[in-house]
Amino acid sequence: MKCEICGRRAESRFCELHRKAEENLREKYEEWKKAMDICWEDYLREVLKNPMTGLWVKEVARVLLASPEGKEASSTQKKV
Ligand SMILES: [Zn+2]
Repeated sequence: MKCEICGRRAESRFCELHRKAEENLREKYEEWKKAMDICWEDYLREVLKNPMTGLWVKEVARVLLASPEGKEASSTQKKV
């Protein structure tokens, strides 16, 4: 498989570096959710707007925001 973002050889949809960025992104989201009422999609948009966000994380956020999986995640959260 190839990384969806950079095309590097990968074991899943993202390479090692982008997978790390995705993990960071999801961990931060847990923190944000505790602090405010925010859904996954809104969170990803905020991350993209934030000048402090690293490039790798932004690339991942953009892909997740565009993928149907990102939308599924937010609708599952609403059910709980
Ligand atoms: Zn990559």
